[in-house]
Parts: sequence; C-alpha cells; structure tokens
Amino acid sequence: MHFLRNLIILFLICIAIKINLCVPTIPSSLKTLPIDGHFDFKQVHHAAKDFGNRYSFLPSAVLHPKSASDIATTVKHIWEMGPGSHLTVAARGHGHSLQGQAQAHRGVVINMESLQGPKMKVHTGNFPHVDVSGSELWINILHETLKHGLAPKSWTDYLHLTVGGTLSNAGISGQAFRHGPQISNVRQLEVVTGKGEVVNCSEKQNSDLFYSVLGGLGQFGIITRARISLEPAPKMVKWIRVLYTDFATFAKDQEMLISGESTFDYTEGFVIINRTGLLNNWRSSFNSNDSAQASHFKSDGRTLFCLELAKYFNPEEMAIVNQEIMTSLSQLNHIPSTLFQSQVSYIEFLDRVHISEIKLRSKGLWEVPHPWLNLLIPRSNIHIFAQLVFGNILTNTSNGPILIYPVNKSKWDNRTSVVLPEEDVFYLVAFLSSAAPSSTGSDGLEHILSQNKRILELCEIDGLGVKQYLPHYSTNGEWRSHFGPQWEAFVHRKSTYDPLAILAPGQRIFQKGFG
Ligand code: FAD
Repeated sequence: MHFLRNLIILFLICIAIKINLCVPTIPSSLKTLPIDGHFDFKQVHHAAKDFGNRYSFLPSAVLHPKSASDIATTVKHIWEMGPGSHLTVAARGHGHSLQGQAQAHRGVVINMESLQGPKMKVHTGNFPHVDVSGSELWINILHETLKHGLAPKSWTDYLHLTVGGTLSNAGISGQAFRHGPQISNVRQLEVVTGKGEVVNCSEKQNSDLFYSVLGGLGQFGIITRARISLEPAPKMVKWIRVLYTDFATFAKDQEMLISGESTFDYTEGFVIINRTGLLNNWRSSFNSNDSAQASHFKSDGRTLFCLELAKYFNPEEMAIVNQEIMTSLSQLNHIPSTLFQSQVSYIEFLDRVHISEIKLRSKGLWEVPHPWLNLLIPRSNIHIFAQLVFGNILTNTSNGPILIYPVNKSKWDNRTSVVLPEEDVFYLVAFLSSAAPSSTGSDGLEHILSQNKRILELCEIDGLGVKQYLPHYSTNGEWRSHFGPQWEAFVHRKSTYDPLAILAPGQRIFQKGFG
C-alpha cells in the first residue's frame, strides 16, 4: 500500500517536472529589461481574445512597447535565453485574427498599438508614399494621406486593421485586380527579426527578408515601419450593383472586367441565397429603407449573384465619367432591371464596413464567434465549385455575406511568402459567417463549422487546387500540403530569420526550439 502510494507520488512528480520543462515560465529578467515601455503581467486577458471569438490562449505577459527598440530588446532577450525557455512572442495588431493567430499561450504578446514611432509622414512628388508605423490602422492612413490629396492604392474591405496585420497576410479587396494586394504596394519595411535585430529591407536591400515578411504570417519578423505607395485620391465614387441569376454569365462578366483596361476601379461580387436579416446584409451599400431596391435583393429561394463595381471620380469629371460607366455597363449581361447606383464620398466608400460594424455592435452581433472561411480558387474550377456549394451545401446566406471575385495573379509578386493557386486568374471566395452564441441550429457554430468542413472536403476530393487565405491548420502535414512546393523555402526562411521559432506561435506552423 505504502509502496503504491509512493509510486503514485513519484509518477505525479515526474509529470509535474515534465510539464514544467515544456511550459514556459516568465523569467523575472523581463522585468529588468531596459525599455521605455512596460510589461503588464496582470492585465493580459485582452490579449487572449480576437475577432474570431473561438480561441483563447492566455499569455504570461503583455509588452506595451514605446519603440521598435523595446520590441528588439525583448525578442533578443528571449532569443538569448535559447530554446530551453519555451517562451514565444506574438505581435498583436488590432486583434482581428480569426483563430488565435495573434495569441501566445503563456508567452509574450506585444501590444503593437502602444508603439510610438516617428509620426506618419506623407511624401509627395513623382513617387508619392507614406511612412507609417507597423501598428497604424489603415483608416488613419486614409485620413492623413487625404490631407495631401493622396491615398494608398490597394485596400481591405474593412480599414480598422493594422498595417502589420494585413501585410502579414496579403490585404485583398476590389482594387486588387488592378493594383495587386496590399503586399504588392509596399516599398520598404523596418522589421525586428526572431533574433532581435532591427533590419531595414526593400526590393534592393535585404530583399529576401522583405519578401519573406510580406504574406509571411508573422513568422519572420515583426513589422515596425512600412513605406506604402500612394496615388492621387479621388473625391467621389459611383457605386454600382447589378444582379445575375446565372453563375456562368456573372463570372464571365467579372473576368471580362478584370482583364485589360477596365473603366472601373473596384470589382467585387457576392452571393445571395434565401437572404434574410441584418447579418447577411452587413456589407450592403444600399439603404434598406428603400423598399423597391430592397425587394430586388430578396432571392426567394433562388441563388442570385451580385456584381459590385466602383468608379472613382472628381466632381468636374462627372459628365464624362457617367458616359464611360454607361458604355461599360452596356457590355454586361446582368438582369436588365437590376441596376442600382449610388454616389458617395471616397471615404464613405472605403470605410463602408465600419458603418455596419457600428450597427452590429449596437445589436450585440459583432462580438460573436466568427467561423470564417476564405478560399483562393483557380478560375478553371470556379464553376464546379459554385455548382457544388451554392444552393447545395449552402442553402441560405443568412449567417453572413459570401464574397466572390477574381483577381489577376500577374499583380502578385511571386517572391513573397503568400501561397496562391497555380493559375493566372483565381477567385477569392470568402464565407464571412457569424454564429449565434449557444445556438444549436443552422445559425450555430457547430453547424457552420461542419458546413465549412464539407466545403473543404469537397475541394480536396475534387482536387480543385484551392488554397486557404488567412490559413489555419493544426498539423505539420496540413501546413506542408498548404505550402506545397514552397514549403522548403518557407522552412529555410524561418531557419534564417527566426531559428528558434519564437515568433507568431499562434499560427501553429513551427514549435519553439525549431532548427
Ligand atoms: P492581428 O489579428 O492583430 O494579427 C494578425 C497576424 O499578423 C498575427 O499572426 C500577428 O502575430 C501578425 N502581426 C500583427 N501585427 C504584426 C506586425 N506588426 N508585424 C508582423 N506580424 C504582425 N483581409 C483582407 O485581406 N481583405 C479584407 O477585405 C478583409 N476584411 C476583413 C474584415 C473584417 C471585419 C475582419 C475582422 C478581417 C478582415 N480581413 C480582411 C482579415 C484581416 O486582414 C486579417 O485578419 C488581419 O490579420 C487583421 O489585422 P490585425 O491588425 O487585426 O492583425
């Protein structure tokens, strides 16, 4: 009896030692680091939350840096502790990740929004650009650059995201067909690597690091500054929507619009199936009080496809722009009675999702689980995908919008880390679902997740050559298959810039101690 008890105690001690070996403990040395900002070891819960509302990993400390040097000092310290410390570091931009990507279980989260770098600086002239902090929100960049009559060329649909957060992925919206994603519109970066070095990089200087970081899922360095290309900003936007019942016609028109010299500055599309409710509507540009307009968007059991276009202009160009739009629209094959137009300011257009955010927040519908699924689908397989999914796996779009639009691969730089399908044109298909908390019905998390799983399985079985955007996997094998032929290069870059795998543990690609 005595022997058995001792054996159990010994066993428990062994487990405790083993757990202790693998679980990082925050060293007191962090407290004595010479930094201008500070560490918080108590108020850390905020850093264990994100927009996805599904994953929560509590860090042991949150760094509120004042400078890039604070970040470098911290990462260098952890790098010098070696693999035995098991400590990891996650940069947290605006926390709009979906699956814990900006979290660090028992590690250090860097609250990028505390960073106080040099002020945002707009450079006018032949090659206009703006120098910003990696923690800057795109909405602030818009406001600042507009003071100079300029603006970035490529956007995301929602602007309350940080530069570091979107450049770690790609940054895609309706302008990408012409300008490429946001990662195609960056000239220079300042980066803190996984060894705690502060490195400036661009196409000409430390170019491998530059391209590694762009679309690099935060794996190679923390972006502390970025230089972003600008163009003259328009004052106004003609915002247009037309509807289709036939997917083939819709896709043909979309592809025609993104090839060659399009009149339009922005092209997106979305799917409407048995649409009801506010959630489905949250990207809507049109006033739902207008009953005549709203009735056209009721699909009554059918699947409709909505093409969304925008044309930028200045008031003095109004007449000529109207003429150009008429000519371009006459080449489309939408349902003739469904042409909806509105005219808004450039800011109103770009910041459109924020209006919906305010509405959803007021109804308690913003901070709910978001089981989003974003796919990049080769053009040659988009028809079969649409046939299998819309109206079949997916019989309504009441849980949130479904975006679908093509982009040109030629506008993406193949030196970056981003993983794309193997065709010249591919579609972004984004299932932007919100789940009703604690519902077990078709608006509940379990149902939406199983729907996502079926869609992914179908892509796999039919060999559609689909890649996930904002990818998330739990096993090494899945990551390898996501990267495909790019895996070796990705691993090589990781071993060069973050050999101890300290950075971005929330992506679950590498374990600390790698290399
Ligand atoms: P976080 O969630 O804080 O971080 C995201 C990842 O980037 C993490 O891995 C983090 O460690 C890393 N990271 C953060 N800051 C840095 C840094 N400075 N340096 C290096 N790594 C860093 N995406 C699109 O492309 N197009 C869209 O139209 C679009 N619309 C969206 C709309 C909404 C409402 C939401 C919630 C998201 C949308 N996204 C879109 C996705 C969005 O681009 C990503 O989720 C992005 O990562 C969020 O930025 P963030 O600042 O909140 O980053």
